[in-house]
Amino acid sequence: MSPKSRNIEKQRVAIDDITIHKETIKPGENALVRINVGKLPSGTKININAHVFNGLKPGPTVLVLGGVHGDEINGVEIIRSILADEHFEKINAGTIVAIPIVNIYGFINFSRAVPDGKDVNRSFPGSMNGSLASRVARVISSKILPHVDYIIDLHTGGASRYNYPQIRYTGTDEKAFALAKVFGAPFILKKPVITRSLRKIARDKNIPIIIYEGGESLRFDGHAIFTGVNGILRVLNHLEMLECDTSNPDRLLHFGKTTWVRAPRSGLFMWTKKSGSSIQQDEIIGVVNDPQGLSTVSVMAPKDGYIIGHNNASVVNQGDALFHISTEYERL
Ligand SMILES: [Zn+2]
Repeated sequence: MSPKSRNIEKQRVAIDDITIHKETIKPGENALVRINVGKLPSGTKININAHVFNGLKPGPTVLVLGGVHGDEINGVEIIRSILADEHFEKINAGTIVAIPIVNIYGFINFSRAVPDGKDVNRSFPGSMNGSLASRVARVISSKILPHVDYIIDLHTGGASRYNYPQIRYTGTDEKAFALAKVFGAPFILKKPVITRSLRKIARDKNIPIIIYEGGESLRFDGHAIFTGVNGILRVLNHLEMLECDTSNPDRLLHFGKTTWVRAPRSGLFMWTKKSGSSIQQDEIIGVVNDPQGLSTVSVMAPKDGYIIGHNNASVVNQGDALFHISTEYERL
């Protein structure tokens, strides 16, 4: 080998090494990097576990993360099943960083937030001198984000709200919109940025980010899990990082403005039209019954459109959000 070609080889390897939290993962290697974020009151150490897979060829670094909201377990299962099926091991270019559970505190407490009630996804970029949520956010923004070219962040509806499988992206992020179409969830929503969210910080750092929403918190949903797994693999295929069989989307609908249909009165709620369905103006999509059996009030679709999420709560108060709908959409 000539001195020149040795140099080229050395440079290629140097480019492809990735060092996270003082752990260097060489091309063709993978590692589980444990990043300590704090301790429980019992003294038990809490680590964020990042599975890092480094391909043999240069390519982008993709971060896939779940459980930023600790009770949104469909995302945890999506990453777990991809890890267990060893898809990421087959990476041939670029790097994958997969974090099944970001908010361990919320996960063990069956909670969206950390124990003091703060939301990690409203605490970015975070600080190691801040609240617990702020510390968790800081670990992601300081240890992980500097390495990352793309982000896929996995969520579900909050509380008892179900989200039909959908990608959310920031309107100004054209690269994210392109990835959203590749991901292939049936619905794509353009959403304004949320202050101190991971999506906001990623936008500020010019890292394209797509948020996958599927199902509801604390409940597995087969459709949402399948769509999430398939979507991640489709994105990695598209970025020429790995090759695997995936399904093509049945439909892709792109939504602009969305709104909520709210409970016209308090009582017992039952939806009669499910998420994912098209709706027509004045169609009955649910009912709210008086618990004494004295009256029933219909919940009507205000316009033609689609149901992109619904509330599975059975007991509702007047004004509660029942159906997340959109009447502005285009077929892609
Ligand atoms: Zn969430």
